[in-house]
Amino acid sequence: MEASLRRHDTIYVGGEWIKPANTDTIEVINPATEQVIGVVPAGGPEDVDAAVAAARGAADEWAATPPDKRAAHLAELRDALNTHRRTAAMLVTSELGAPVRIADRVHVGTPIDVLDSYVELLSTYEFHERIGHSLVLSEPVGVVGAIAPWNYPLHQAVVKIAAALAAGCTVILKPAEETPLNAFLLAEAVHEAGLPAGVFNLVPGGPAVGESLTCHESVDMVSFTGSTAVGKRIGELCGKQIKRASLELGGKSASVALPGGDLATAVKVTVANVMLNSGQTCSAWTRLLVPNERMDEAADIARSVVARYTCGDPLDPETRVGPLVSEAQRARVLREIQTGTMQGAQLVAGGEEPPPGLDRGYYVRPTVFSHVRPDATIAVEEIFGPVLSIIGYADRDEALWIANGTEYGLAGAVWAADEESAVAFARQLKTGQVDINGGRFNVLAPFGGYKRSGIGREFGRHGLEEFLEYKSLQL
Ligand code: NAD
Repeated sequence: MEASLRRHDTIYVGGEWIKPANTDTIEVINPATEQVIGVVPAGGPEDVDAAVAAARGAADEWAATPPDKRAAHLAELRDALNTHRRTAAMLVTSELGAPVRIADRVHVGTPIDVLDSYVELLSTYEFHERIGHSLVLSEPVGVVGAIAPWNYPLHQAVVKIAAALAAGCTVILKPAEETPLNAFLLAEAVHEAGLPAGVFNLVPGGPAVGESLTCHESVDMVSFTGSTAVGKRIGELCGKQIKRASLELGGKSASVALPGGDLATAVKVTVANVMLNSGQTCSAWTRLLVPNERMDEAADIARSVVARYTCGDPLDPETRVGPLVSEAQRARVLREIQTGTMQGAQLVAGGEEPPPGLDRGYYVRPTVFSHVRPDATIAVEEIFGPVLSIIGYADRDEALWIANGTEYGLAGAVWAADEESAVAFARQLKTGQVDINGGRFNVLAPFGGYKRSGIGREFGRHGLEEFLEYKSLQL
């Protein structure tokens, strides 16, 4: 075990750190060293009951707290998190393997920006409006079960919690079992920020805790991010109870380099997008679509770009690609790479061999395939690893057909000679977000999926409104 073992033996319920009823524990592994770096409780049904009771008990008062007071609490939370940002970044590096060069800016900076955006939004958002002779009130849904994945541990929790708390809901967070340490830091920040008891509760654990929360009769809504398979299960369970569910699921997004666009920039930015977080990003542009006649050129550019993506120790500031989160995830990604080769795609860079000089850690080399058929397994399945597939198209119609040809629709990019033609193409994509000629991420714009990438939106006003019910009073 590593020297700096983090051991938590309490859960955060009703504004206090309490001993869980369940005595099981979860070991947290550093994916770069394969060492145990933390131990946290695995909650059980009684712990879920206690947390839901605390959230229910706090719900009415929090809902009645004026928006400016809720904003003040969120500002305190933002500031508390900011105080601990170095620790948060260090935890993301050690429990997820995120390279230090992105841990602070991406993993911790984004959730702080998100909290800030909700503080701002609450200063202008109208929770009531007149429509003809009706007064329409926007009221919080109530008690929310927030189930988070491991890929952006702090961000995925905060994006749910910030919007839910801003809307006036109370929350029980269940972090992913692979990366729960950031959730403990978040709970500590909530406590320091002085949020009212019961407004935020933390019950770590695995799928059983997630299902207990989903099925609990006092939970009004489930906000879930993770795999499409688990999303379906949660959707089914919520459907049976007529319970609201917001689902952020997988993706297989396309970056489309249209004829006339800047191919070199398209390839460079697409490689960067895929390799970020070792490819463990639901919105990653894992398919690069290029004109058939420029396939070889695109492959050459990708080869030289990806050579700069140093894979290794996430603590090294030069590292751009760290390990995958777990041994299981690495095995899955290596199987996909093997399938890609077997199905005839050309390996441009990377592959199944472990990166040189790394004899431990769940590493996969940054990998690029060219000449990938649009129906190949690696062109349609979400891999969730550092693997890019370059696919050729004959004309604009075929590019559109390929881009829209998976069950997913979360994100994407279009590269064209001018903004107008890129936007015209983007309008025809069945996907929730499209970056036009390198447009930057916007924490105020709605994020979420078409098709099997999910139901609902996160971020900004649209994210807030997921947590609202409307009541019309006819005057
Ligand atoms: P997952 O869907 O298995 O787990 C996500 C969360 O759901 C975790 O907190 C988990 O404990 C919980 N959970 C699992 N089963 C549950 C159940 N039956 N009821 C309630 N909660 C349950 O995802 P994962 O194992 O973390 O990753 C597997 C795949 O999911 C990835 O390879 C990737 O394809 C996808 N993924 C997508 C995103 C995204 O942001 N869209 C994020 C992470 C993972």
